Amino acid sequence: QRVTTLRSLRHFCTPTTPPEPKLIRDFAIIAHVDAGKTTLFDRLLAYCGATLTGERFMDNNVLEKERGITIMSKYTALKYKGYTLNAVDTPGHADFGGEVERILGMVDGALLLVDATEGPMSQTKFVLEKSLKRGLCPIVVLNKVDRPGITPQRCGEVESQVFDLFAQLGATDEQLDFPVLYASARQGWATDQPPANADSFQHNESASRNVAPLLDAIVRHVPPPEGNPQDPFAMLVAMVERDAWLGRVSTGRVASGRAKVGDRLRVLDHTGKVLEESRLTKIWKRSGTGREDLALASAGDIVSVSGLGQASIADTLASTAVSEPLSPGHIDPPTLSMVF
Ligand code: GDP
Repeated sequence: QRVTTLRSLRHFCTPTTPPEPKLIRDFAIIAHVDAGKTTLFDRLLAYCGATLTGERFMDNNVLEKERGITIMSKYTALKYKGYTLNAVDTPGHADFGGEVERILGMVDGALLLVDATEGPMSQTKFVLEKSLKRGLCPIVVLNKVDRPGITPQRCGEVESQVFDLFAQLGATDEQLDFPVLYASARQGWATDQPPANADSFQHNESASRNVAPLLDAIVRHVPPPEGNPQDPFAMLVAMVERDAWLGRVSTGRVASGRAKVGDRLRVLDHTGKVLEESRLTKIWKRSGTGREDLALASAGDIVSVSGLGQASIADTLASTAVSEPLSPGHIDPPTLSMVF
């Protein structure tokens, strides 16, 4: 019922103005199955004021999985202390290599979630390696530290396993210097303070704790996006979906510039061929557990747009001043300025 109401209302929301790039953080979430990603993300959403509808946010669409069609990666924005924190989920499997590239092209940081009782798992290696290669500096979160046996020694062990994995994957000194947070997604808190003694995470006043230290770490450690809102508009399509009302919806990070509803945009394929020139009919983004209408798609923000029926994954949506497509997986500001 609630979802239906939200959907029918969403066309009548007052559009909001876009955040400046310096108030945006775009980051990917890397986690193996059961590390607690869904639980943690629900806590972050709730802390940032989102109303949870019962549908768990980061759960992948079971139907899509069964049918074997594209597993849609999800994103949503968390609003925190005036910042827009755009979180993007990553598929954990090597089968989705191209998709992982495009997702990592939308972000400047990563959250690596590790189950403190299990240690790092091979399942996340592939995405982690790609993240490190792209030069992202992941924030490491040891989750489930409320569990018995999570002592200072155990945390030290897991941290050195993560360190070894980073080193094995070719991490730089800066990447090896990863920040570590300790979290109990189940109890709804995170801290950057290592455990003081054997049971300090199990017998604490967890009621007074919350997830703010993790949100603060994202603001501090993930760099803001570099795209310039003054440059011509360009956005690489990272995800495509169909919406009953809007038709084809393209999602991606705006690499540069700004576009508003009614603006004429081009769809360029990866060779630069113009597939279509049409007007933007709607700009919105997933925010919290709902949707937010936007007046503008602006540099650095992750947004969804409609009106361009020919756009496919890895195409570029661009203003008519742009004739070179963005390169999938490499949205590189220096290259962009050469293009313009
Ligand atoms: P996901 O597969 O990474 O999305 O993991 P889920 O969020 O679904 O969590 C997997 C299981 O771990 C569930 O049974 C959760 O209740 C449990 N879990 C998640 N976070 C914690 C935590 O911080 N502490 C404990 N003890 N269990 C947790």
